[in-house]
Amino acid sequence: MAYDPNNVFAKILRGEIPSLKILEDEHVLAFMDIMPWSEGHTLVIPRAAARNLFEIQPHALAKLIERTQTVAQAVQKAFKPDGLRLVQNNEPAAGQTVFHLHFHIVPCYEGVPLLIHQPVMADQALLRAHAERIRKELP
Ligand code: 5GP
Repeated sequence: MAYDPNNVFAKILRGEIPSLKILEDEHVLAFMDIMPWSEGHTLVIPRAAARNLFEIQPHALAKLIERTQTVAQAVQKAFKPDGLRLVQNNEPAAGQTVFHLHFHIVPCYEGVPLLIHQPVMADQALLRAHAERIRKELP
C-alpha cells in the first residue's frame, strides 16, 4: 500500500505535532511513545518516507538500526530494566497502527505486564522526565 504523508509520525517529523524528543539527526528521530507499554518506551523512526520494513532502502535501515542501538543503550542505562524488547510491526495483522516504519524500544520489568496497545495516555510531565533521563545517558 502507498505511503501516506499525513500519518502521525510524518507530522511529528515535520514538526506539525509535538513529541518528546530523545535524539534527532539527518537520518532518524527518536521520541517517547505517548501510550507507553512500559516505563521508558521509546520509538525510533527514519526520516525516509517508508511505510514498513519492506519499503526502506538498506542504507537508511542500517542508520535506523544503528541509532536504535544507541537509544536502547541509553534507555537501558536510564531505567535499568530486567530486559528490553525491540518490536517492529508490519501491517495491521502484525499490530501496526501507524504506517511509518518504527522500532519500539520497550523496557521489560520482572512481574510488570506490558500495556501493549492499551489506549492509556501517559502523564505528560512524567513522560518529559523520562525523556530527560534517557537523553542524559546518550553518548
Ligand atoms: P504500532 O502499533 O504501529 O507498532 O505502534 C505505534 C505506536 O505509536 C503506539 O505504541 C502508539 O502508542 C504510538 N503513537 C500513536 N500516536 C502517537 C503520537 O501522536 N505520538 C507519539 N509519541 N506516539 C504515538
